[in-house]
Amino acid sequence: MYDSNNIFAKILRGEIPCKKVFENEAVLAFHDIAPAAPVHVLVVPKGAYVSFDDFSAKAPPVELHAFWEAVGKIARDLGVDKSGYRLIANHGKDAAQAVPHFHVHILGGTALGGLVAGDRLAR
Ligand code: AMP
Repeated sequence: MYDSNNIFAKILRGEIPCKKVFENEAVLAFHDIAPAAPVHVLVVPKGAYVSFDDFSAKAPPVELHAFWEAVGKIARDLGVDKSGYRLIANHGKDAAQAVPHFHVHILGGTALGGLVAGDRLAR
């Protein structure tokens, strides 16, 4: 169930400010309030999807395409395509998803190190 009171829904409705880096009819992108890297931007689809699982299962192809096209463009606009960047989409409890509106983190601007915190958790 999508909770329309989540913080990104409020940002999308303009009820809470954000440091916007890009907007079109399909997505809004803004700086993360607690950056984990020199570049840390969140890309949020305007449709009401709880997480990547919801988005990938329910979004029509036009929305899927518009979203991922925007992610690539925003990364290029941020300049991190040259040095490299990481995309993260947290889904659910094990991934510690904090905001229940699907979003992708674009992280870059420095060497990001291991794949996950604590390095290889499966050891
Ligand atoms: P996740 O764990 O993938 O759900 O990440 C949620 C992200 O949203 C975290 O990195 C937070 O720092 C970020 N965040 C929470 N509130 C805001 C806000 N008002 N503006 C920008 N970023 C936010």
